[in-house]
Amino acid sequence: DKKVVLITGCSSGIGLSLAVRLASDPEKTFKVYATMRNLAKKERLLECVKGLHKDTLDILQMDVTDRQSILDARDRVVEKRLDILVCNAGVGLMGPLELQSSDSMRQILEVNILGTIQTIQAFLPEMKAQSQGRILVTGSTEGLHGLPFNEVYCASKFAIEGACESLAVLLQNFNIRVSLIECGPVNTDFLVNMQKAELGNTSLQQVDTKTVSLYEKYLQHCDSVFQNAAQDTEDIVKVFLDAIQSPSPTFRYFTSGGVPPLTQLKITEPDGSQCIRAMSKIIFSVEEQ
Ligand code: NAD
Repeated sequence: DKKVVLITGCSSGIGLSLAVRLASDPEKTFKVYATMRNLAKKERLLECVKGLHKDTLDILQMDVTDRQSILDARDRVVEKRLDILVCNAGVGLMGPLELQSSDSMRQILEVNILGTIQTIQAFLPEMKAQSQGRILVTGSTEGLHGLPFNEVYCASKFAIEGACESLAVLLQNFNIRVSLIECGPVNTDFLVNMQKAELGNTSLQQVDTKTVSLYEKYLQHCDSVFQNAAQDTEDIVKVFLDAIQSPSPTFRYFTSGGVPPLTQLKITEPDGSQCIRAMSKIIFSVEEQ
C-alpha cells in the first residue's frame, strides 16, 4: 500500500518541491494530496510532475485559515486514512512594527499558527485511531531565535515550536511522530509573497529616521543572506525525506546541518544577552551596549 501524504501550501516553494518529489518517487511509494489555497495556481505543479503522476498525485483546494475547506479536503482523501501530514503553508511579514496593521498581523498569525494547528486538529482523530502516523511541519530558525523587523512572523514560528513540542509528547502514546524541519533562508517565492515594507514607500516616512536606517541595514543583511546562504528547495526536500524514511524520526531537523550558532548561544548562555549582542552585530554590524 502507498503511504498517503497530505501537504499544505503546494502552489510554490517547499510545498511544491516536496509534492513533486514524493509524487514522482520511482518506487511509487506515496499517494500525494497536494493542497493549495487557490487551485488556479496548480499549473506550475502539474508542469513539474510532467505526467509522471497518474496514480500518485491529487490536487485539492485547502485554505488553512478556513476550517470548512480543511474538512472538505480531508473528506476527499479516498483512502480514508493519512499516514503523513505535512503542514507547510506560511506567510511572512517584514518591516517596522509600528507600521503593521492589525489586519496584516492577524493574517500572519491566522495562516502560520492557527492554520497549522487547525490542520493538525482536523486529522488528529483518524491518525490517533490508526495508531500510527507522521506530522511534519516546516519550521524556521526564526522560530528558534528572534529577528528584528520580523517580530510577528517570529512570534508565529515560535508558537509553532510550542504547539508541536506539546503534541510530540502526547502523540508518542499513539505512535505518531511529530517533526519540525527547521529551515534557514530558502530560495522560494517567500520574499515576494510576503507583506513587506519597501524602502521608498511613503509609509516608512511615518517612522523615525533611526528605525528607517536600521531597517535599511537589516534589508542589506537579508539580501546578502539570501544571496550567499539560501538553500534550494531540493535541499529541504532531502531533509523531509530523511525524516519520512527514518524508522524513528527525531523532533527537530536542521536543514543546513547542525544547530544554528545563535540557537546554540541561547542554550549555553540562557540569560540571553550574548545571543542578542551577537544578533545585533550580525544584522546591524554594531554591538549594542
Ligand atoms: P512560498 O511563499 O513559496 O510558499 C508558501 C505557500 O503557502 C504558498 O504556496 C502559499 O500560497 C501558501 N499559503 C499561504 N497562505 C495560505 C493559506 N491560507 N492556505 C493554504 N496555503 C497558503 O514560500 P516557502 O518558502 O516555500 O514557504 C513554505 C514554508 O516554509 C512557510 O511556512 C515558511 O514560513 C517556511 N520557511 C521559509 C523560509 C524561506 O526562507 N523561504 C525559511 C524558513 C521557513
